[in-house]
Amino acid sequence: MNALRNSILAALLTACLLTLAAPDAHAQMGAASRGPATQANGASAAWTPQPSVSISSVNASAPAPILINRRVVVLDPAHGGSDSGAQISDTTVEKDVTLALAFRLRAMLTARGFTVVMTRDSDAMASPTPGAGELTLDDRAGVANHAHAAACLLLHASGSGVGVHLYRSELDAAPGESAVPPWLTAQAAWIPQSSLLEGELANALTRSGIPLVTGRASVRPMDSLTCPALVVELAPADEDVDSMNRTDYQQQVARAIAGALLVWADQVQAPLRLSSAAPAMNHPGAGSSGAGVQP
Ligand SMILES: [Zn+2]
Repeated sequence: MNALRNSILAALLTACLLTLAAPDAHAQMGAASRGPATQANGASAAWTPQPSVSISSVNASAPAPILINRRVVVLDPAHGGSDSGAQISDTTVEKDVTLALAFRLRAMLTARGFTVVMTRDSDAMASPTPGAGELTLDDRAGVANHAHAAACLLLHASGSGVGVHLYRSELDAAPGESAVPPWLTAQAAWIPQSSLLEGELANALTRSGIPLVTGRASVRPMDSLTCPALVVELAPADEDVDSMNRTDYQQQVARAIAGALLVWADQVQAPLRLSSAAPAMNHPGAGSSGAGVQP
């Protein structure tokens, strides 16, 4: 299990480093989205017959869709090991709350037919990079992105406020995902889906009577995630900060989230892929990257 996971992480980190080496990829993505649409206007005198390039033929050679595994959810219990996160009370640190909530969510999601990928399932996890020490934020993003999940939830906890705080990225939405998304802004293409996911979770939590705050925050590694992604920050149930450790409270929150994800799994849509070296129409068997066809 760990060996498989570590090999996945190593492969992903390689991809991450390649992406970091191409800092202008985001600019290329914007240029690609503008495309050749401005060519056809008002030039009748200069018009010469051309092999027709219609909208439909452009679409027919478009890159293959981005794969989403509708029944896969990534849970990232934030912090862990030497990073305790927030000191919530004399007896509670954030890293323990996030892991406990992740275990509850995993049990409920598994019971509903999901496969759950957790970035850590114990206090301290080693980085897959030899000698790198503990699992890094980039390691976590690598695990998450490899899963092609319907949702990626970064679990945090805070002693401030009550209920649940939902945050999505502060990045502006990009028109689609480039073949090699820029590592630090990869989430941009997924912002519309992350917003819809936020709405689904917000509705479910509110229906369950759980106080809710929503906002935007670029909490690492969220901006590097290529999936609908949110920070889910658990706050106390009431004025007693240790109420966030109560089993019934965590179960109530987990049940609301799991129910929302069940609905979400049928709605999630991948963004467009903006460019591809090997158009699917000409090379139907050539798919070698993460692209693929989903049901
Ligand atoms: Zn935190």
